Amino acid sequence: YQAKQAQDHIRFYTPQMSEQTFKSLVLEKELREAIHNNEFVVYYQPVFEGSGTSIRGAEALVRWQHPERGLLLPGEFIPFAEETGLISRIDKMVLTQVIGDLRRWHAMSINRIIPLSVNISGRHINEKDVTRLTEILNRSALARDYIGLELTETYLMQFAEETVVQLERLKHAGVRLAMDDFGSGYSSLGYLKRFKIDTLKIDQLLVRDIVENPEDRSIAEAIIKMGHSLGLQIVAEGVETLEQLELLKALECDALQGFYFDRALPPDIFEAKYLRRNR
Ligand code: C2E
Ligand code: MG
Ligand code: MG
Ligand code: MG
Repeated sequence: YQAKQAQDHIRFYTPQMSEQTFKSLVLEKELREAIHNNEFVVYYQPVFEGSGTSIRGAEALVRWQHPERGLLLPGEFIPFAEETGLISRIDKMVLTQVIGDLRRWHAMSINRIIPLSVNISGRHINEKDVTRLTEILNRSALARDYIGLELTETYLMQFAEETVVQLERLKHAGVRLAMDDFGSGYSSLGYLKRFKIDTLKIDQLLVRDIVENPEDRSIAEAIIKMGHSLGLQIVAEGVETLEQLELLKALECDALQGFYFDRALPPDIFEAKYLRRNR
């Protein structure tokens, strides 16, 4: 079966090749085609004010419209794209699409422009990619002012010194930065100050048991307090219930995001639901 499939996709398949290697080769070939054909679509998940009453921004989340397998979530291809380095091109395509949506939404007569945030792989935090990112963002004042970048700490910590230098450059270029998934990995508060971050996003794993688990609640409370004392905005991710919302509100969390409010939506639906409504 594999051999037959292999004939369709890859010429140099040999029976000795492990199933894993085979799958990787197929995926890499498909990802390259996807980049070439721009099969990536950007969905938007609203981010709400800490009170939970009004929208204050949205996060752009990539999906792959695979020609045979349908709509794929990032978990199915981002880790692999990071391994192969293809992530650079995907992230730049996403950023370009988001800038297009931002322009369109700005041109529509809506009450106000909402800030959008884009996830960027830690692999971009090097001299060359930071230069490219700033060039893209600085093509218009609109993009520079209304698009922020989200980074996860895991990768950044490995190259801490270089990271500090590169994030400083982004900051100088006027780009807002958020630390994503905070509270689950290394979570060094010491680095936050050096990393010139504006926003901290509390990991959804920590938010999940925040109502039932007093330890998780204490950690969240400490993150919010310390974050505030460092002048950071705090966003809680993965808010699914009213109880979680109430608790985070009591802890004075600045912004909330999660299925309790809404999922990530295709641009047209996001637009109809959040940008066209008269508020
Ligand atoms: P993230 O940046 O932490 O994004 C939040 C993820 O949690 C999204 O998953 C979102 O759909 C999901 N989520 C939101 N609210 C809830 C909730 O209440 N409950 C639960 N269980 N989940 C919720 P998604 O879209 O599958 O993205 C997964 C991860 O993939 C993202 O995590 C981000 O790290 C990465 N990613 C997404 N888009 C991009 C991109 O364009 N570039 C890069 N480099 N990474 C991306
Ligand atoms: Mg994110
Ligand atoms: Mg996150
Ligand atoms: Mg995540």
